[in-house]
Formats: sequence, structure tokens, C-alpha cells
Amino acid sequence: MSDRSEEGSNFIRAIVEEDLRRGTDGGRVVTRFPPEPNGYLHIGHAKAIRINHSIATDYGGTFHLRFDDTNPVKEDTEYVEAIMRDVAWLGASWGDKLFFASDYFQRMYELGEQLIRDGLAYVCHQSEEEMRASRGTVTEPGTPSPYRDRSAEENLALFRRMKAGDFPDGHCTLRAKADMAAANMKLRDPPLFRIRHARHHRTGDAWCIYPMYDYAHPLEDAIEGVTHSLCSLEFSDNRAIYDWVVEHCAVEARPRQYEFARLYLAYTVLSKRKLIQLVEEGHVSGWDDPRMPTISGLRRRGYTASAINDFVDRIGVSKANSLVDIALLEYSIRRDLNHKAPRVMAVLDPLRVVITTWPEGEVDWLDAPLWPHDVPREGSRRVPFSGELYIERADFHEDPPKKFFRLAPGREVRLRYGYYITCREVVRDSEGRITELRCSHDPQTRGGSSPDGRKVRGTLHWVSAAHAVGAEVRCYDRLFAVPRPGAGGVDFLEHLNPSSLSVISALVEPYVAEAGDSHFQFERLGYFARDPDSAEGALVFNRTVTLKDTWGKLAAAERAQEQAMKPPAEAVKLPAKPPERAAPRRSRSLGPEQAARRDRYIGMGLGPEAGILAGDEVLAGLFDAAVAAHPEPLAVARWVVNELRGELRDRAGEPLRFDGAAIGELVALIDEGLISGTIGKEVLAELVRCGGRPRRIVEERGWTQISDPATLRPLIERVLSDNAAKVAQYRGGREGLFGFFVGQVMRASKGRASPERVNELLREALGG
Ligand code: ATP
Ligand code: MG
Repeated sequence: MSDRSEEGSNFIRAIVEEDLRRGTDGGRVVTRFPPEPNGYLHIGHAKAIRINHSIATDYGGTFHLRFDDTNPVKEDTEYVEAIMRDVAWLGASWGDKLFFASDYFQRMYELGEQLIRDGLAYVCHQSEEEMRASRGTVTEPGTPSPYRDRSAEENLALFRRMKAGDFPDGHCTLRAKADMAAANMKLRDPPLFRIRHARHHRTGDAWCIYPMYDYAHPLEDAIEGVTHSLCSLEFSDNRAIYDWVVEHCAVEARPRQYEFARLYLAYTVLSKRKLIQLVEEGHVSGWDDPRMPTISGLRRRGYTASAINDFVDRIGVSKANSLVDIALLEYSIRRDLNHKAPRVMAVLDPLRVVITTWPEGEVDWLDAPLWPHDVPREGSRRVPFSGELYIERADFHEDPPKKFFRLAPGREVRLRYGYYITCREVVRDSEGRITELRCSHDPQTRGGSSPDGRKVRGTLHWVSAAHAVGAEVRCYDRLFAVPRPGAGGVDFLEHLNPSSLSVISALVEPYVAEAGDSHFQFERLGYFARDPDSAEGALVFNRTVTLKDTWGKLAAAERAQEQAMKPPAEAVKLPAKPPERAAPRRSRSLGPEQAARRDRYIGMGLGPEAGILAGDEVLAGLFDAAVAAHPEPLAVARWVVNELRGELRDRAGEPLRFDGAAIGELVALIDEGLISGTIGKEVLAELVRCGGRPRRIVEERGWTQISDPATLRPLIERVLSDNAAKVAQYRGGREGLFGFFVGQVMRASKGRASPERVNELLREALGG
């Protein structure tokens, strides 16, 4: 567990503390994590688990693990087992408090009979369609079902026949007799039980009626004596029916539901439906593919439970959904592995180095600490130095640029723990590719320092050719190429990053093959975890996360003081609403030059953006160049501050691959109406990742916004004819469906249609 102080308080803790103060539940605190066993757990679940479990343990309460297994069709014991493994691994122990909703089926049935006797439930023969159609709209009440006023006897007899299996699937439902005019649509007589002739993974064929979520969930909580039912925000509307059920059923406790923000992680998806699709369609190798945001995937990638929990604590608990930067997760894992993973040497892209001055056949076994950064922590291994080594190809430059301090012709560098070497000759093959460096060494520098005090600027990692062990190293990039896969109505699969996996044949020092550790830091490269695919004599490693690349950092720093390396302290907020035009604040910490710049920006019409830009050299430089290319200061500033800033923070330490003019060009494309803002964000993400010119990117991807009516009308016609029933409902007064049609057309255009134009043309087509 990470330290509490990081987590601090939150609104749920405040509620629990207030309940304890008042003695609301007799001083008891009972929480639960209620997964449906229809998929593997992901990092969003880790948040829910952490919140529920930490509240129970911190307030002397009890934490339950309960499987919400009320839907026989999609559930499976494979998932039950995987979920238990993951929850336990995350450190949320449930002791003997393991429950299954399916154990309460009989009780739920009996409570259903009681609701009927109390005149609070009825058997309804409306189809799903009919029910939806008669439910009304947000502004109009629903129409009561014709079966609503049946007698209790008749309802009871029918409910028993439902249970006995007399009716086929969908023939009827048991519905709550709640309130067809309630402002909250969820209260308009929701179904409580439906007929499903399906085998359940635990109860077998015992039941052919199954309780619905809105009925089952509150009962499960109440039966177990849960006090605080904590769930994510999408259940807010369900709270009214939750309370209705608890109030009208004779149950042992009166739990209360509270909602917290769901976790969204950039560049990935956290919906079980989508994760299942990735697995089943083979886009990944399985639920535990190290690119997956699942707990099992993260574990295989090398993430630790404490890093995941630390991450969850850092993002905190709030009521506002936010898209969290992956950089924050990476920060947590680096922080954790720094003291857990011993440092060793591996070469991922080997370049041969022959030490011409080395005595033939001699091997020098050097003593090298495993925790050089954790002095005085003990532990070392022996590293063989010989006349033939490998270094990283990128550590040699024939024509070294400024501030490149690694090996170059005639230059001397230190080999970590070994000797100083000087490059004397570069050997090439017939195609001109460098195949070997011939170097001399200084025998006086054993251990990495020179008795005459001679300094070298570069220190390289290396392995001895004769002793190195081959290893397969799997390097991962983000699974998706854009921050919000599926945004803009595009199929999320189209956003898969085609190069999210690269497999490398690397060389590791012999200790790695002998040691039992599962995590290593390969010096200067990153953290790596042993993959279960490793076998005797066949090492496989997953790259968990890179270290920050110092060369890239320098390159970025040349442009400006490097601001983004400090750990991101908070989540990046979801899609930026344009900032309020508040009066620009006089900020405290700007130096005279920056203050002058800020005043210049205010003079250009900027609001709060002025201070943010003025205080950040990189952003200010980009902004100035962008405005030179596209003289719309306010629009440009908003893109730089609201979108670009977050992207750069995400890629802290990497060299900039684009210039300000490219940003200006991007904003121009949007201002010209050539692309939508949504597509604009994707272009920006691509710019930051790969560089290029926005116009080219847009052209190559075919992303130009469509506003030509001749192109849009056929799409609209197709959507309307595919949804004839909804068109009829719309014309009958269900105006709420308009948004649905817009969405479908946007989808059909893969997010490229101009929404304004679609609105216009749809109104025309629908006549009104
Ligand atoms: P789906 O992806 O289909 O919406 P789910 O992930 O919500 O499914 P459940 O098994 O119902 O699946 O989730 C169990 C609990 O985890 C719920 O209480 C839910 O509030 C919580 N949860 C799920 N996803 C997230 C998330 N991204 N962030 C925080 N909590 C989550
Ligand atoms: Mg859910």
C-alpha cells in the first residue's frame, strides 16, 4: 500500500465519517466490489476496488467481494476465477466475505411475490419495444401499461407460471408498479424479472427467470448489510430505483448509494464489450496481452499492484469524469520499480566493439552493484569484460551533433563499471553500414575512473560478446494511436496503433539469466519484466516502461527550460469547454521578461491563456510561431493551452517533432471548416507523436470534413430508411430522437461530416 497522505480525503470519506459520527449504521462500515463475471478486470475496476477496500479497512469496516452474476448468458466461471485472482493480487482481501448474487435468487423471488401482494409489482406482456415506446420522454410522462391494474391474485399466478417455465423468453416480465410520471425515467415501472431459458454457470437450470440489475443490486447490498454502496457515475440515475427497492422490500438493511467518477485512461478503452472484442477478434494475444489495460495485462507487462494502487490514489476520488494521462500511470510504476528492480545491463540494438588493446582471451570479472542508486544497499554481481563487446548502436555517432556525449571517432567514453575506451576505427560492410568499431582501452581506468583525474562525458552500457545471453524483448507502444479511441463516431478498431508491438532480439549480461528476479532495470533503457513465455534457455522480457530519455530531454531543453518533467499532479480534464473569458489574472511568479510577454498576449486579446503561455517557454515559442502562420491569436492560444499542453506533458522528455507553424496550420484547417475539432485533436496527437504537416496528415487519412449536401444526403437517406420505426416515432412527437439521427449520420460518415450541415439537412429531410 502506498502512503495514505498521498490520497488525502475525499467526499465519500467525508460521508462515511459523518455517518460514523452520527452512528447511522450503528458504527458499521460495509463496502463491496460487485463485478459481473462477464470479462476480466481492468484498471478502472482497480479504482473501484481500491476505493471500496480502503474505506472499509481505514474505518474498521468490512469489504465484500460479490459477483453480480444475474445474467446467465454472458457469464462464466473462467471470469470468476480471473477476477478473484486479480482482486487478491491488488491486495484487496475479502476474508470470508465472498458472495454470489445467484445465491439470493430464491430470496429475490420471494420478495417479488411480496411486492405483488403489496400491489407494487405486476406481470406485463408488453414487448421491449412497446415498453420503450410507452415510457414517455424527459418532458412527457409515460403511458401506463394496459396490464398495470391486474389483481394481485392474477399477478401472483402469472409470476409463478413465469418461474415454472410455462412461457418462452420475452413473453412477459414482472414490472415494478412505481411511477409512470416520475421525472426520473428509471422509475417508470422498470422490469424486475425477465424470462431467460438459459443455463447459469452456478445455478444450472434451476431458474428460467432472472432478476434485472435495478432490482437485484440493491437487494444484494441490503441482504449483505452493506452500508455504503459505492459505484461509478453512470449509475446516478439508478439511485432512485435503488432506494425504491430497498424501501419497499422487507430487507435487513438500508444501504445508500454514492457515485464517484469513472476512470478513463487516454489511448485505451475501458469497456468490457470493447475489451472482449479485442480479445475475440485477435487484435491482441489474449486478456493478459501486455498492451491491454486489464489487470492481468498490466501484471504481465510488469506493473506492480502497489504502482497501480498508487496511481489510483493519485488520481483521487471526485465527481467529475476525467481522462487520465498515461504518463501518470508510468510515473507510478517508475517510482515503485526504482527500488524493486535491480539494475543490470542489456543491449537492444547491438553494435560490435573490438578492443584491439585487450590481451587475447583474457576475461576480467568486474564487481558491479545491483542498486547503484540506493547506496548503501548491498548486493552486486560480477560482469565479464572481454576483448569483444556490444554497445547500443545509437550510442555511436560518426558525426556527433552538439551535446552528444557518447562515442564518436577519436572520442573517449567510459564503459559502465569497466574501462575508458577510445574509438580508433569504424568498420563498414559493402553497403556502407557500420558493422564494427575498433577501440583501444586504458588499463588504468578499471572500475570506471582514471587515476590522472581525466574526465569523460559519456558512460555507456555494454555486454561481453562471448558471455551475453540472447533474449527476446517485446517493446510496447500504446494500443491505440489516439487519446480517445472511437471518438468522432469512428469505429474504435480503426484507431488501433498498428505498431504497438515490436519484438527485438537483445543481448543481456549473464546474471540476468541466472537471477530469479522478475523485474529488472536495463540500465539507460527502461524497466523490463520476465514474461511467462520464458523457458529454460529462452528468455523473454516485456518492456514495462522506458526511462526518460536524457538525449531527448536535452533536445527539448535546448528549446526551453524543461517544465514537464515534474510528476503530473492531476488528471487532465475531459474535452475542454472553451475557458471562460475571465479577466486575465496578474500572476505572481512571472519574471519581468515573462510579464512583458504576458502583457503582449493580453494585448492580442487573450484571456487566462496569456499567463499560462507566458510562463512556459516552449508553449510561448510554439504559440508565437503558430500565430505568425495563422493570425488568430485566441483560437491558436486555446489549442495550445487546452490540447497541446496536455499532449506535451504526456510525452515529456521527447524531442519536439513539429514546429509552431504546424500548429497554426492545424488551427487554420479547423477555422476553415475543413476538419472538425474532434479530428483536429487526432491530427494534433499524430503531430506530437510522429511530426508531419497537418494538411498532409488530413489528406492522407481522408479526414477532410464533409459539408457537401450532395455527399451527405444519401447518407442521411440511408440512416432514415434503416431506422424507419424511429422516424415514425419522431414524427409522432418523440423529438428526442433527433440527436440519435445526427449520431447515426456522423457515424456513417466516420466522424467526417460537418455536424452543423448534418443538423440542417436532417431537419430538412425530417420535415420540420
Ligand atoms: P462495462 O464495461 O460493460 O460498463 P463494468 O466494467 O461496469 O462493465 P462491472 O462488473 O459492472 O462492469 O463493474 C463492477 C464495478 O466496477 C462497478 O461498481 C463499477 O462502478 C466499477 N467500474 C467499472 N468500470 C469503472 C471505471 N472505468 N472506473 C471506475 N469504476 C469502474
Ligand atoms: Mg457496468
